[in-house]
Amino acid sequence: MEIIVAKTAGFCFGVDRAIKTVYDTISDVPVYTYGPIIHNNQVVQSFKKRDVTIINDLSELSSKHTGKIIIRSHGVSENILKQLELSDLQVIDATCPYVKKIHKIVKTHELAGREVIIIGQEEHPEIIGIKGWTSLPTHVINSMSDIRKLDSNKTYGLVTQTTFNQGLYKEIISELQRLDFHVMIDETICSATHGRQDEALSIAKKVTKMIVIGGKHSSNTQKLYQICKGQCDLTYHIETIDDLELNVFTDNDIIGITAGASTPKNIIEEVILNVGRKNL
Ligand code: SF4
Repeated sequence: MEIIVAKTAGFCFGVDRAIKTVYDTISDVPVYTYGPIIHNNQVVQSFKKRDVTIINDLSELSSKHTGKIIIRSHGVSENILKQLELSDLQVIDATCPYVKKIHKIVKTHELAGREVIIIGQEEHPEIIGIKGWTSLPTHVINSMSDIRKLDSNKTYGLVTQTTFNQGLYKEIISELQRLDFHVMIDETICSATHGRQDEALSIAKKVTKMIVIGGKHSSNTQKLYQICKGQCDLTYHIETIDDLELNVFTDNDIIGITAGASTPKNIIEEVILNVGRKNL
């Protein structure tokens, strides 16, 4: 049995920064995060044990809330940011700089009177935040067929969810260009996603089984899984070693392992260790 572990598996720069921000902020005053700090249950539960409280909506806040509130790497809308700044809480903004850059691009399009196309998942917190940086209509698309919803007589701005599938992004852009849409394109898939998806694709091409570790609700992990599954039929998406049936692996297997941007190192190491032990 051979095991190939992706060098890019685990925390990206933005998630690492957000987690460190929580550790640095835990103190004698109450600490809140606006939404779960990352899409990983194990990390969220560990912070809960240290009295970090999740606020999911502005309506949950009242004047009795004091202390500090951390905005996670996915970012929030302009309105939520302003409302939090007006509250009695001290705001600590851990929005990833790559996401902040998208907010600025969207704002520029609003000032120029352009509606924005966002390639991404409508319900994802990053997209909900991005939509809130313009008062003009936004158009979230994530498939070729969604292009039908757009008006070819308009000039649009276009941004992409930082963790979107690069292959599908290229297909959508080619189709928009083929149909002669007037679109001002900013390619905003982040470099961490580029590296992780490229490496996962290349490993999945040469293994017999592939393991993708990450939260079931983590969008970037789901995309990694789709990319790997496209190359290696026997791809398993697990959150922790408890989800993995070790009996499926044989001595002749070449096993690839990668992980989403919010998967902690100890969870990845536990999987490597247990799959490796199967080899003994
Ligand atoms: S995936 Fe990219 S944009 Fe998202 S937090 Fe990580 S580095 Fe930032």
